[in-house]
Amino acid sequence: MITYLQPLRESIWLKIILVTLFSLLSGVIAYVILTKYITVSPYVAACSSLAITFIVSVIISKRVADQAMASTNLLVRALIIGLDDSPEIEKPDAKDIIKPSREYLIKLAERAMDINVAIKSTNQAGLSKMHFYQAVADSIAVPIIVVSSKQIITYANNAAIKYLELSPEKIIGQYFYDACNLSFVGGSTLESWLESAKDGSNKQNEIWERVRLNLAEDKRKQFDLAAHYIKDSDKDIELTLAFFDRTLHYERDDHDLSFVSLAVHELRTPLTIMRGYIEVFEDELTESLNSEQTEFMHNMSASAQQLAAFVSSILNVARIEENALYLHLKEENIKKVLEEACKNMQLRARVHDKNIVVNIDDNLPTVGIDKVSIFEVMNNLIDNAIKYTHTKEDITVKTTLKDGMIETTVSDNGIGIASNVIGHVFDKFYRAHKSKNSIGGTGLGLYLSKAIIDAHGGTIWVKSKEDQGSTFGFTVPIYSDIASQIKDSQNKEIVRGAHGWIKNHTLYRG
Ligand code: ADP
Repeated sequence: MITYLQPLRESIWLKIILVTLFSLLSGVIAYVILTKYITVSPYVAACSSLAITFIVSVIISKRVADQAMASTNLLVRALIIGLDDSPEIEKPDAKDIIKPSREYLIKLAERAMDINVAIKSTNQAGLSKMHFYQAVADSIAVPIIVVSSKQIITYANNAAIKYLELSPEKIIGQYFYDACNLSFVGGSTLESWLESAKDGSNKQNEIWERVRLNLAEDKRKQFDLAAHYIKDSDKDIELTLAFFDRTLHYERDDHDLSFVSLAVHELRTPLTIMRGYIEVFEDELTESLNSEQTEFMHNMSASAQQLAAFVSSILNVARIEENALYLHLKEENIKKVLEEACKNMQLRARVHDKNIVVNIDDNLPTVGIDKVSIFEVMNNLIDNAIKYTHTKEDITVKTTLKDGMIETTVSDNGIGIASNVIGHVFDKFYRAHKSKNSIGGTGLGLYLSKAIIDAHGGTIWVKSKEDQGSTFGFTVPIYSDIASQIKDSQNKEIVRGAHGWIKNHTLYRG
C-alpha cells in the first residue's frame, strides 16, 4: 500500500475496533439497566440489549463508512472532472475529507483534475502538428496522392487536385483508377508493378518515365511517376505517388517526331528509286569496277540500306504512337527469315570490318511471325552490335528452341552497357550517356523492337557488361501454338496491334 495512505487505513481500522467496542459496551450497559433498575426478566433484557447493540453498531458504522467513503468520493469526483466526462460534477473540496492522508489525497485530486488540461494540450499539439504537415504537403508544387489498400484515394495535396483538373470530391474518396486514367509506354504499368511489389517479387519503389494522364476532352498530360508501396501500414497507406510534370518536354519530342515522320515519309519514294539504281549498278558493273570502286559501291549500298531502315523505323514508331502499327503473323521458317535478315546486314557489317556469324539450329519448328517486322528487329540489333563494337570481332546470331518459344540472340564484344542504365535501353528516345555524342542514333530502335516483339507475344531482353560486350535476345512463338487464333482461313494470318501506350488498369471503366 502507498505509504501516504497508511494513516487513513489505520484510522479506519481503529474506528472499526471502536465501533465494535462501543456497540458491545452499549449492549452491556443496556442489560445492566434493564435487569437492575427496570427489573425485566433476563430473557427480555438479553434480547433488548442485543437489539440496542445492533442499532448502535449500525448507526456508528454508517458514520464511519461515510467518512471512509469521503476520500474515495473526492478522488472519483476529481477523476470525472479530469476526464471531462460530466462537467456538472461539483469540484472536490479539502473540507470534504477528514484528516488522515488528507494532504496527499487533495494533491492527488488536483492532479487528476489537471488530466483534462494535459489531454487538451496534447490534442492541440497533435492537431497543430497535423496542420503543419498538411501545410507542408500542400505547399509542395509536386502533385502527391495517397492510395489505401482498397485502392481509394485518401489524400491528394493541392498540386495534385490542380493537376488532375477535378474537384476534390471527385478525387478524395474515389477509386484511384477512376480518378486517374493513366497510360504507360511499354508493358510495365503501375497496376502490374503493384501486384508484384505486393507479392514481394518486385522492389517497393518504382519510377516510370513518359506516363500519360488522359483528361476530359482528349486533353493529355505527360509526366514521370514515382511510386512507393508500403506493406501493412497501420494508417492504411498502401501507395504514395508523386507526379513530375514533363508535358512540355515530352510534347516537344512528340511534335518533333510527328514532323520528322512527315518529312521522312517523303523520303521513301526517292530512296526506293535510289536503292533500285544501286542494285542495277552493282549487278551490271561488278565486272568492270576496280577494288576501290567496288568498295565505294558497297558503301553506297550499305548506306542506302541503313537510310531505308531508318525511314522505316521512324514511320513505325509514329504508328506505334497512334496505336496504329499492325503486325500480320504468318507461318514462317525462322532459319530462312533470319539468314535473309543477316545476309541483308552482312554488307553493312563488312563495310565496318565486322563479320556476322550465324548459328541457327536445324529442324526448328515453324514460327508465327510478321517477317518484315522481324527483319526490322534484326536490323536494329545487328546495327547496334556493329555501331557499338569498335574492334574487328565477330557478331554472333544464334537461334534455339527454349521453353516452348524460339529464342534468337545477337551477341557482340563491344563497349557494353553500364548496369545503372541498362534498365532504360528499351525506353523511347533513350540513348546511353557515354555513346550519345560519339555514335549516331535516335534512341528509337530498341523501343520499336520491343513493341514488335511484345505484339508477337514474345519477350526481348539484354545482358551486358561494360567494356566486355552485350547480348540482346528475343523470343517468338511456335506457329502451332498460335495457329488456333487464325480467324481468316483464307489468309491464314493473325493480326496484332503493337501498342505504344498501355492502359494502367485492365478493368478501367472510363
Ligand atoms: P540508338 O539509335 O541510340 O542506337 P537504340 O534504341 O537502338 O538507339 O539503343 C538505345 C541505346 O542502347 C543506345 O543509345 C546505346 O547506348 C545502347 N545500346 C544498344 N545496343 C547496344 C549494344 N549492342 N552495345 C552497347 N550499347 C548498346
